[in-house]
Amino acid sequence: MTTYASSLDDTLVERLQAAAHGEIVRPGDPDYDEARTVYNAMHDKRPAVVVRAVDVGDMVATVNFAREQDMLLAVRGGSHSVTGSGTCDGGVVLDLGRMRGVRVDPQTRTARAEGGCTWADFNHATHAFGLATTGGVVSTTGIGGLTTGGGMGHLARSCGLACDNLISADVITADGSFVTCSEERNADLLWALRGGGGNFGAVASFEYRLHPVADILGGPTFYPLDGDVIRRYRELIADSDEKLGALLVVGLGPPVPFLPERWHGRPLCAVVACWSGPEEEDDQVRARLAGLGPVLGQYVERMPYPVINTLFDEELPPGLFHYWKGTFSRGMADGAIDVYLEYGATTPTIQSSTVIFPIDGACHRVGPEDTAFAYRDAGFSTAIGPALLTRADCEANIGWARGFAAALEPHSLEGGYVNFMDNDDQVRVRANYRQNYDRLTEIKRHYDPGNLFRLNHNIAP
Ligand code: FAD
Repeated sequence: MTTYASSLDDTLVERLQAAAHGEIVRPGDPDYDEARTVYNAMHDKRPAVVVRAVDVGDMVATVNFAREQDMLLAVRGGSHSVTGSGTCDGGVVLDLGRMRGVRVDPQTRTARAEGGCTWADFNHATHAFGLATTGGVVSTTGIGGLTTGGGMGHLARSCGLACDNLISADVITADGSFVTCSEERNADLLWALRGGGGNFGAVASFEYRLHPVADILGGPTFYPLDGDVIRRYRELIADSDEKLGALLVVGLGPPVPFLPERWHGRPLCAVVACWSGPEEEDDQVRARLAGLGPVLGQYVERMPYPVINTLFDEELPPGLFHYWKGTFSRGMADGAIDVYLEYGATTPTIQSSTVIFPIDGACHRVGPEDTAFAYRDAGFSTAIGPALLTRADCEANIGWARGFAAALEPHSLEGGYVNFMDNDDQVRVRANYRQNYDRLTEIKRHYDPGNLFRLNHNIAP
């Protein structure tokens, strides 16, 4: 079925241009290199055409074009996919990066956001009303890939995953139809979008439930890389209020002014807190953080919620070379902590931190079959992500990431989080969806029998 057309007939492209309002970029155009580039520099692909869609009409035209020409189709939102699935060789890229409008309804506490929004776009719009929902911890990540994969972030313990807050979506399916899905209409499609990835169509807009979160107390506290610190972190997650988001980061000290220079580039761990509870309890939260171990450095302040999601932005600019592994675990076994210590100490670069997301609380109040995201019994999700300055350096550290994930395996559940996995994890796709895989296959067969949307952790129809 796949046609890797390296060049396209001019008449065909003219026909596509006539059907689209957005810009069409082809090899040889001045913008081509910019248009084909994705966040993860490991994926240096050369599509035949990039459509910079500006509206639903452009999306429909692009989906129809790719299907009719039997070409590979990549859908790109924020472009952060580790697997580089927002681009392809010789095919069509549907780039939603110019569709970034957000409409907030403060009365119903909902927001409808276009498919190319980043979390920065989304948080900016909702914060104006003192509202927020769970999104990614880096502001440049797209809502599209993150939400359809599940979506973990600082508010997950109290508000659930991003996909749990998805209440409806407008989707362009493989036959070019415009399908609205919600609990009432096409509920099977909504169910699949809540964790099943980009398998079912291109989402023109996502509608989310919002929560009253305006300012928070948050930021990182750095500690020595020590088993007792991590064990106390485990206790913190077990007995603290769900309004305390707290990521554990294992890696090398970043060159930030609030961490003494002697710790820059040295192994340590950090807890990145996000307390969205009452301000009167800030001091108790500070005391809990201070009690985890010797504090090497700290920046924990009151800030607008969108700001906490920008703290990693500078450390993780586009253009680094990434390779990732993802695991789920029910709890955090002492054996897993030993692995964090061992591999944390040999973290290759400052940007390569291992991030452990707690996914309990509200995430566990959704049943394992209520959404496509099946791992409702997982308490933690670990992202191991070497990020380096050159391809050669990244390739040299793939073994480190694989070794780390393999060492965690005895303490992990079978599947992992699709958004933290690389291309060599495609073999795990059934395990990633567990008991929901068969239902996802049926829904895939209904909406995309020809597997047009296959550049993802693919659920084959
Ligand atoms: P893209 O590369 O644009 O898209 C990835 C895939 O998602 C596409 O191939 C497509 O299949 C699908 N997709 C995207 N938009 C649409 C759409 N509108 N309609 C249909 N399908 C679409 N994950 C978390 O859960 N929490 C985090 O805090 C987090 N932080 C991250 C930080 C960084 C720096 C990076 C690189 C990744 C992070 N991730 C996180 C993982 C992230 O969820 C995935 O990389 C996700 O795929 C990114 O989505 P995107 O829209 O930016 O990517």
